[in-house]
Amino acid sequence: MFQLSAVRVSHFLPSLVLLVSGLAAAYVRDLNVFFTSLFNVLPTLVLLLGGAYCAVYRRQRELFLMVTVYIAYFLLDTQTDFYRDNGRVREDAAVIFHLVCLLLPALFGLFGAWQERTHLAQDMLARFAVLFAVGSVAVALQQSFPDALLRWLAEIRWPSLHGQWMSLIQLAYPLFAGVFILLVVQYLRQPRPLHAAQVIGLIGIFWMLPKTFILPFTLNIMCSQVMLMIAAAVSHEAYQMAFRDELTGLPGRRALNERMQRLGRNYVIAMTDVDHFKKFNDTHGHDVGDQVLRLVASRLSKVTGGGRAYRYGGEEFALVFAGKTAEECLPHLEAVREMIANYAIQLRDQNSRPQDDSAGRQRRTGGANTTVSVTISIGVAERLIDHRNPEAVLKSADEALYTAKGAGRNCVILFGQQSRRGAVRMA
Ligand code: GH3
Ligand code: MG
Ligand code: MG
Repeated sequence: MFQLSAVRVSHFLPSLVLLVSGLAAAYVRDLNVFFTSLFNVLPTLVLLLGGAYCAVYRRQRELFLMVTVYIAYFLLDTQTDFYRDNGRVREDAAVIFHLVCLLLPALFGLFGAWQERTHLAQDMLARFAVLFAVGSVAVALQQSFPDALLRWLAEIRWPSLHGQWMSLIQLAYPLFAGVFILLVVQYLRQPRPLHAAQVIGLIGIFWMLPKTFILPFTLNIMCSQVMLMIAAAVSHEAYQMAFRDELTGLPGRRALNERMQRLGRNYVIAMTDVDHFKKFNDTHGHDVGDQVLRLVASRLSKVTGGGRAYRYGGEEFALVFAGKTAEECLPHLEAVREMIANYAIQLRDQNSRPQDDSAGRQRRTGGANTTVSVTISIGVAERLIDHRNPEAVLKSADEALYTAKGAGRNCVILFGQQSRRGAVRMA
């Protein structure tokens, strides 16, 4: 149910930076004219830019999250402006504030957890209908029964649970807690930057509301930061989509190409390929093949010696060692090759029934638990005088890989030194 292994601090980092900078900015007193003007237009600016960004990426969920935050900002800003100009609150301030304390977390949780499923236009329409319906009912109640609504909102339902520190209506606390749990569970089930941003965004809102009338620019700053968190999560995910391989979680081919442009004077590139993987797939099925690829990727990503693993494509991976010579890298490559070859992979799918013994090096034990193992071949090349660009080094690594396959697989071969036994390790 929970994918704890996919939880990353990096999912939270951009949002946390925005939250902390928002908290710090809110406490700054005596802002100069530049900053007061900036904070006055910031939420609208962020909505327009972030909203356009979400629209381009067709991210309705994020767009509606931003719109929800902006509406709350707009309603409260009208109140704080009045308070600043007149030194007293407007008559409808209490009811509007309490309504926002209730509806903002509720809608934030709803739009945050509402995954896009149907057709884009229908999805947009459904979200808009919800926002419109909730808004209309709130306005109608506020116009028709302001006193009764205020009494209902402000009522202390559970006196024994009421604390002096509670500056929001009592109902808001269980609601915030419920939405927080919902968003945390959503993140743990599907760890991704957007879900992390929603959790941190809710914390920001929870911190902001009680300070709305106390700290002058809290509202403008925190609403902008929460909208920025959402926009930053959209770009984070777009970046991941472009540069990360979905199956293995490793950086993909595009990331490798980018890295290759920034390699210095000394580096080593190793190309690795899983041996007899086609037969492995034919024997165990594509799903088991995928499982094994993930495990191989995870082992390669832990290669020692400063190497970084990339999924080059299919069952081929590239390892890049910046600032290293081939001699320095070979023991680490040898170690990772051996580690993969000796790794008995426990298959999760007990229904897969192997039919062909010749595929890869597989073993079976007793029938109930199936363990398999795979081997990899590695071709290595380093930057030399006649190999000045990374593309040429990669091509040489590929040629060495081809030689490794010819040499019986499950071995490491260094380009140009195929005959030197010290550099060649046969299985
Ligand atoms: P060799 O030892 O010569 O490398 O033999 P091989 O069978 O591994 O050779 P080849 O490179 O021709 O086969 C690659 C196979 O890898 C083809 C395809 O079935 C499998 N493959 C590529 N990408 C994936 C993937 O994402 N998932 C799975 N399950 N299999 C993949
Ligand atoms: Mg291949
Ligand atoms: Mg292969």
